[in-house]
Amino acid sequence: MKTLSPGSTIGMLGGGQLGRMMAMAAAKLGFKTHIFCPEKNNPAEQVSDKATHADYDDEIALKSFAGSVDVVTYEFENIPVPTVEILSNKCLVFPSSKVLEVSQDRLSEKTFLNELGIETAPFRAVATKVEAIEALREISYPAVLKTRRFGYDGKGQAIVKSQNDVSDAWDTLNSDKVILEGFIDFDIEVSVLAVRGQNGEIKCFDPVENQHKNHILDVSIAPARISDKLKQLALDMATKIVSNLEYVGVLTVEFFVSSNDPMLRVNEIAPRVHNSGHWTIEACPSSQFEQHIRAICGLPLGETSFSGEARMTNLIGDDILQYEKLLRSSNACVHHYGKNEIRAGRKMGHVTRLYPKKS
Ligand code: AMP
Repeated sequence: MKTLSPGSTIGMLGGGQLGRMMAMAAAKLGFKTHIFCPEKNNPAEQVSDKATHADYDDEIALKSFAGSVDVVTYEFENIPVPTVEILSNKCLVFPSSKVLEVSQDRLSEKTFLNELGIETAPFRAVATKVEAIEALREISYPAVLKTRRFGYDGKGQAIVKSQNDVSDAWDTLNSDKVILEGFIDFDIEVSVLAVRGQNGEIKCFDPVENQHKNHILDVSIAPARISDKLKQLALDMATKIVSNLEYVGVLTVEFFVSSNDPMLRVNEIAPRVHNSGHWTIEACPSSQFEQHIRAICGLPLGETSFSGEARMTNLIGDDILQYEKLLRSSNACVHHYGKNEIRAGRKMGHVTRLYPKKS
């Protein structure tokens, strides 16, 4: 285990809002941040000490970056595995590339989860339309075709309600690395954010309930409105995942909850801090971002306790125009990500409201 002292520099791959909020948490604990990403004037760099703009396959830039920081982490999961391997030969990197290999491919992710005894939607790997039709006979309708890699916010997937849909759905995905998943008739989606330190210490935040609009997270409500038994099951599964991976940092597990199914099914895992954990900034003694920094710096993990209710709403696209109005609202904790161009579907900020626990 390596403990970093305040004043040390954290290298961060990626410059989005998650990196921005991690850099702010790092500064709170006395650390500096150096951002590495191709895009200039990104949200994370605005609140960091240094930035390198280069591509993720620029070996010379990566080596020089690795030599200038004390530990490297990342804020998105589609970092190329070779990038992390190049950096790992030169400096500490958390989480390790092993988790990227598992989570970047839906097939290896679901296989890994099932081998741990954790349920997912039923699935089959398919490479052609004919294989998709055969798999549909086993899995039945409705089902979802998904590209195995690089899908997010509903991109790279298509619902199949009958055999007639297969051809069009297949053509929209434009890939031969696909999985077919059974459609889960869920009531609620919940997520658990788990953090594991370098010494194996594990803590989890309360399960949070997530509501989506146009496939993008709209609202997170903590704690999730599910039974204590399901909450415990979700926490146990998240703990099992991070300990099995010997993971260091924050990892997010997304679940489907159905009232007609006693099991929780994992939809996916994200090896990073997550949009559904933003409420922890105001609601918990140590936020998800601070926990991640503590874990990768070899420091004791913080408290995840929380009593009361929190509601986080994303400000997407034009929603950010409510900025001043929200600032006038007494219980609104407003976050602006510093993006100067508003685009439809773009996450521009979020607002969290805390409420006392209902008796
Ligand atoms: P994903 O990109 O896998 O996280 O999927 C995005 C969203 O699509 C999820 O949050 C669900 O709302 C929905 N979804 C994905 N897979 C399934 C499934 N097998 N059954 C039902 N809904 C799904």
